Formats: sequence, structure tokens, C-alpha cells
Amino acid sequence: MNTKDVLNDLKRRFPNEPEYLQAVSEVLESIEEVYNKHPEFEKANLIERLCIPDRIFSFRITWMDDRGQVQTNMGYRIQHNNVLGPYKGGIRFHASVNPSILKFLAFEQTFKNSLTTLPMGGAKGGSDFMPRGKSNAEIMRFCQSFVLELWRHIGPDTDVPAGDIGVGGREVAYMYGMYRKLARENTGTFTGKGLEFGGSLIRPEATGYGNIYFLLEMLKTRGIELRGKRCLISGSGNVAQYTCEKLIELGALPVTLSDSNGYIYDPDGITREKLDFVMDLKNNQRGRIREYAEHYGCKYVEGGRVWAEAGDIALPSATQNELNGDDARKLVAQGCIAVSEGANMPSTPEAINVFQEAGLLYAPGKAANAGGVATSGLEMTQNSMRLNWTREEVDEKLKRIMAGIHEQCVRYGKRSDGYIDYVKGANIAGFMKVAKAMMAQGVL
Ligand code: NDP
Repeated sequence: MNTKDVLNDLKRRFPNEPEYLQAVSEVLESIEEVYNKHPEFEKANLIERLCIPDRIFSFRITWMDDRGQVQTNMGYRIQHNNVLGPYKGGIRFHASVNPSILKFLAFEQTFKNSLTTLPMGGAKGGSDFMPRGKSNAEIMRFCQSFVLELWRHIGPDTDVPAGDIGVGGREVAYMYGMYRKLARENTGTFTGKGLEFGGSLIRPEATGYGNIYFLLEMLKTRGIELRGKRCLISGSGNVAQYTCEKLIELGALPVTLSDSNGYIYDPDGITREKLDFVMDLKNNQRGRIREYAEHYGCKYVEGGRVWAEAGDIALPSATQNELNGDDARKLVAQGCIAVSEGANMPSTPEAINVFQEAGLLYAPGKAANAGGVATSGLEMTQNSMRLNWTREEVDEKLKRIMAGIHEQCVRYGKRSDGYIDYVKGANIAGFMKVAKAMMAQGVL
């Protein structure tokens, strides 16, 4: 089957999985040209084998809330492809989690991990459990119940989970604690762990920092400085916070943050002190971004999206499909020059078209946010070696990896008119490595 036939077949087989089909169709469109040059791929039915996950575990999670009532949630782990190394990918806790969203994330993760050049396959997991409003004790009991099922399927050389939306250092620690007790081993298995028990320096910062390192590489291709640029960030979680931190450090002016209720616009720029307020608000108090506007007396738009504001650079860092065609047109009209995705698939296909047709620098998440998983890979290496690298060592490696990903995108995505199609570049570079490994390892 050619790529179009595979896509049509997947649409017929999985009609209720729009996010999965969206991610697959973007990749298949990008790789069509190279795929057609390799008839051996078609003979091996490579695309179908690459699009359909190796396996999907789904299970019921039962836990007790603080009132003593028994609650149930669904849990999943999608092991997508492990041809390059152990399955690797985050765990998401959010009410919206379903097989389609996790399948899209696991699919994307396979190509992203390939781009890092580290030996990691692709996976993703999670639950429809919503952490917002839950007590610390409820979070702990839920994480433990989740791992009571998950632990059979994971291990340091088979599948290594990490955090994602709703899963940060606290949740990883609870999950790892339970895993360690059940598996009776101390070899890592989760990444994003605390520094005292095998975590890596720079891992919490890595996705946001990596995104800015990638952005710098993109700006360099046009001789543009980051200093002084007004930046629109969506979200206010892990990725948004460290994106903001690196921007401040490099002299840019982040002016927005958001959460699922609304966004703040601070025309004077979010400073180090204001970011400390956000980190405390979000990571300790578990409050809402509205409180920033109340505290600092700036604009807050309930239910709005940050893309309504004018900015030179857009850094979507919340969730999938949070930036649509209309948002993209607004950004372009207001003079935006670059979009670099901290989140996974935040721009809709229409928005991506608008950016590319307007000639913006546009980096898809699978390239721009790969710094997170890359540093998770570095955490796995340190765990295997049973030693810890310094902050400078890890940061240096992260910078090098992001520059390497940028180089691969340019190699496969540069058009004859000089425009760099980062979507095409990332997809082809990620795909070719996985495809060659699958061909070499035979029909499995
Ligand atoms: P967090 O849970 O720390 O933060 C998520 C942020 O996005 C919160 O501000 C949250 O608001 C907001 N958000 C979540 N869902 C929605 C929604 N449906 N609508 C509007 N806002 C929403 O997650 P991360 O920062 O870790 O992840 C953000 C994105 O980055 C995700 O797409 C994730 O897959 C991606 N990513 C994360 C990596 C990591 O290392 N953590 C690595 C690579 C990619 P609220 O608090 O109101 O829910």
C-alpha cells in the first residue's frame, strides 16, 4: 500500500480517533516523497507496521478518596515502537485522556526520540484522572494504584515512563516509589525523578530550555536576535515556566501565560521575581493564573487565548490543538516572526499552513520540545552508570542535541527557495532512522 492507502485504511479502522489520525496524516504527507523512492518499504508493509502501536495496555484503577469513597479511573500504556531502544514516553493525567490522544502522543514520541539520536523507542501512557483539586494524599493513593497495574509492563530496559500534563516531580516520585517496592530493584525505570534518588539535573528545565535552544538555532538562520523580542507563552505548567525562565535569562520579554481558565497579559514583561510568584502559585499553592493578574494588576482574559495579543514569537506550551487557523492568522497579521512548539501538536494543520505560507520560522513540537525526552535519555544513562553529571555537563549536552536536531531538520527540510520546512525535515529525519532499523531487524 502507498501512504495514501495506508491513511485511508487507518481512517476506516479507527474512525473515532481524530488526534491519532491528525498526527499520522501529517507524518505520512511529509514522508511520501522519500517513501516512494524506497520500494522495499512498501514490500515490507513498513508504514502500516510503523503507524499501528506494538501494543496497548488498558486497565481499571481503583483508589479511595479522602471521604473514604472508592473511585475508579481508566489507565493506559501505549508501547508504540521499540526498534531503536526501550519504550520511552510520558504519563499524562487529565480528564481528556483517551486512547486516541495517547496513540497520537506515542506515535509522535517515536519520531521525536529518533531525532534525539539517543537509543529510545516511543511510548505514552496516562489516565483520565484529573489531579486538579485533589489532596496530596489522594494524588499519592492514585499514583500508587496506577503503578499497581502499570509496573508489570515497564522496566529499565523495556519501558521507561516520565511526566507529562498533570504529572510532575511529585507524581513521578510517588509512582517510582511504588514501582521500586513492587519490582524490588533500584535501576531508574522512571525519569524526572528527584535529585536525591537518581534524577538528573536540568531534567525539569529541559523541555522549556530545549525549546529556546531550538528557537535560537532557527533565528540564527535569519540573523535575528532573541534579545528584546516580545514572546507569547501559553500554559503555566512545567514547559511554560522553564520556557519563560530561559527567555528572561536571554533578555527576551515574555508577556503572557495561561491555564485552562484564561490568560494573563503583562505588557511590562514577566520578570524573574514574577516568575517565582508563578512557580510558587502553580507548583506549591496549585492556584490559578488569574491570581497573577490580581497580584500584579495586569490584564486577565477569562476563557481567552494568548494568541489574541501581539508578539514577535509564539511558544505554545499547554496542549494539543490550542492554536487554530484564526489564531495563526491573527499572529501573522500582528507581525509574529517565529513559532516554536513546547507542547505536542498545539497547532492545527490549518494553523501550520498559515505559518508556512506566510514564511514564518515554524518548529513542530517533535523537534522543538525533544529536549525533555533527550534529557530523560541522559538521566537513563546516568542511572546505568550510577553517577551524576553536573548541571553544566547536562546543559551542554542538551544544547548539542537541540543543535543536532535543528541540523537534521535543515538537511531534510530545506527547499530550493531556501525556506526551511521544519515539519518535513523533522518527519523525514525521524522516519528514516526508524525505517532503516525496522528493515534491518526483519519482519516482526
Ligand atoms: P503541565 O501539567 O505542567 O502544564 C500544562 C499547562 O497547560 C497548564 O497550565 C494547564 O492548565 C494547561 N492545559 C492543559 N490542558 C489544557 C487544556 N485542555 N486547555 C487549556 N490549557 C490546558 O504540563 P507540561 O507543561 O508538562 O506539558 C505541556 C505540554 O508540553 C503538553 O502538550 C506536553 O505533552 C508537552 N511536553 C511536555 C514535556 C515535559 O517534559 N513535561 C516534554 C515534551 C512535551 P490547567 O492547570 O488549568 O490544567
